[in-house]
Amino acid sequence: MNFCSQCGSARIETRIPEGDSLPRFVCAECATIHYQNPKVVVGCLPEWDGQVLLCRRAIEPRLGLWTLPAGFLENGETVTAGAARETLEEAGARVEVGDLYTLISLPQIHQVYMMFRARLLDTGFAAGPESLEVALFDEADIPWETLAFRTITRTLRNYFLDRKHGALPLRISSLERRPPLPPDLRGAG
Ligand SMILES: [Zn+2]
Repeated sequence: MNFCSQCGSARIETRIPEGDSLPRFVCAECATIHYQNPKVVVGCLPEWDGQVLLCRRAIEPRLGLWTLPAGFLENGETVTAGAARETLEEAGARVEVGDLYTLISLPQIHQVYMMFRARLLDTGFAAGPESLEVALFDEADIPWETLAFRTITRTLRNYFLDRKHGALPLRISSLERRPPLPPDLRGAG
């Protein structure tokens, strides 16, 4: 942070405010404490007749790879409304949002993913400006090697396993950055 968004001062200090336990950006001019907290990503796992709807990304990051429709929650928006909005924007798909299915913490990139099961209301979907194409997939045709994000891979893997067992309980987990490989293993994959 270079400037205080409250007063415009460049005098930003990093310190632990009184009564707090973590270092924060604090403006030395107006004393505003600039808290930084994780962003929430909301999305859907749209289902239709045993198939799931995926979008191929037309934007970076991970351009050209497949994902479930998801994006950042907006201020003033409920999580289910956000999930439905992202699905409409990215896939042109109208859904009835159902139960929360995966809740994934990504502490190193300061995000929390909330993926909801959703019932596709019709097959009149179409790629929005952020997608190259949108399609329904059977489990056997899921493009596992070209999925965009680990959160999406985990959500889909859990989903198809759970579906075989006939129950889809809420799955709470976290994804942490992989530790770097020791030098003698670099290049080994
Ligand atoms: Zn200030």
